[in-house]
Amino acid sequence: MAKRLDLILVVDVEATCWEGNPPRGEENEIIEVGVCMLEVSSGQRRDRRSILVRPERSRVSPFCTALTTLTQADVDAGVSFREACAVLQGELKAQDRLWASYGDYDRRMFERQCQARGVPFPFGPGHLNVKTLFAVTHALPRELGMAEALERVGLPLKGTHHRGGDDAYNIAGLLAHLLLAARR
Ligand code: AMP
Ligand code: MG
Repeated sequence: MAKRLDLILVVDVEATCWEGNPPRGEENEIIEVGVCMLEVSSGQRRDRRSILVRPERSRVSPFCTALTTLTQADVDAGVSFREACAVLQGELKAQDRLWASYGDYDRRMFERQCQARGVPFPFGPGHLNVKTLFAVTHALPRELGMAEALERVGLPLKGTHHRGGDDAYNIAGLLAHLLLAARR
């Protein structure tokens, strides 16, 4: 099917983490998939979703809760990684749409976890790296973190930084800013 270019799926994942390496027997796993739909024609942000995902090979550490606000109880109430991918592929039509994230981290996490669990990769081949796009459109010598990029263009950081849903919303705002600037 031809790629649909009306909406871009902006995605931001949170994962189990520790101050250093994972404890023995545990590994970084996706615990939240934040999604914000960006309407290309208007630059408006539409639906916003936060899909909490139950980890299978790790637990949410106090360090991870301090970073993300997510607790083990929160993610225990979530869906399996396979179900989260099914929502992306089914309801959100992730195979047919362009998707975007800030940096390479989110794409790599999906690639790695899909491969490790034998879950089909839910996205199509069209991925936009907003972090790189932001740096080159502004002719910066290096890429900026999300908070720095927002500050640079005078956009507020809405919600809680390091929560997938809020991060996706803010990244969609950055992408909208770049799209609209190109049409002026
Ligand atoms: P972010 O989208 O910036 O919230 O980061 C996504 C994930 O990267 C987090 O859920 C953590 O698993 C990991 N991460 C981000 N920042 C840190 C940090 N300072 N220390 C350890 N892990 C981190
Ligand atoms: Mg995040």
